[in-house]
Amino acid sequence: MSKFMQAVKVLSAAAVLSFGAASAAQAADVLRVGTEATYAPFEFMGEGGKEVGYDMDIIRAVGEAAGFEVQIMNMGFDALIPSLLSNQIDAVIAAMTITPERAERVDFTAPYYNSGLSVLIRAADKDKYKTLADLKGSVLCGQIGTTGAEKAGELSGGNSKSYNYESEVFNELKAGGCDGAVNDRPVNLYYLATSHAEGIIEMSEMITSEQYGIAVKKGNQELLDKLNAGLKQIRDNGTFAKIHEKWFQVAE
Ligand code: GLN
Repeated sequence: MSKFMQAVKVLSAAAVLSFGAASAAQAADVLRVGTEATYAPFEFMGEGGKEVGYDMDIIRAVGEAAGFEVQIMNMGFDALIPSLLSNQIDAVIAAMTITPERAERVDFTAPYYNSGLSVLIRAADKDKYKTLADLKGSVLCGQIGTTGAEKAGELSGGNSKSYNYESEVFNELKAGGCDGAVNDRPVNLYYLATSHAEGIIEMSEMITSEQYGIAVKKGNQELLDKLNAGLKQIRDNGTFAKIHEKWFQVAE
């Protein structure tokens, strides 16, 4: 046999092997879960390059309850729903608000977290921006594809900027690239409490009340049922309450 043919044989044997490994992994019920890990305390990169946070604990516990091996796949927030629609991932957990527009494209589990939006501004501007109405004409920023970014557009009257990573949003606000940052309130509060957020404050007027859900491809009822059953199981056995307390220091 020529060297070339030998190489072809080795390569095709490797291809068969890796194909075999992929189907074995699927048989073990791997759940590929998309997230966007710059959104502390829900999902962010911990030490050792592992995704950590409230959502990560919830999905790992739900996965265990439902008999899945959870594989986290980190990507841009605006890539999550397209990746679900094109079968790159099986589910999304990303502090994702259940909105009517999204519910037309994907199916959501029962809500697992009550949230809402708030606005951070520089403390130096506190007399300038007392109410949300004062933000008209200001420049507001948010994370691309989020309810916060949408609200930033509305409140500013079309002067909004969107960024891929939440860290960019906070940095822009500090650096004066925008006058306010519109985010989920727990994310704003976590930033104020844990980061070098000197000179940044939260406006007292809140914007919306939202609920997060885990998303699956529209019509994937089987997976939706398993995830809902998993959520119920971890609520019933106390795991859910423990995770909530771990990240928010208060009962739900
Ligand atoms: N809850 C917001 C939304 O669904 C923000 C989510 C996020 O940035 N991860 O749009």
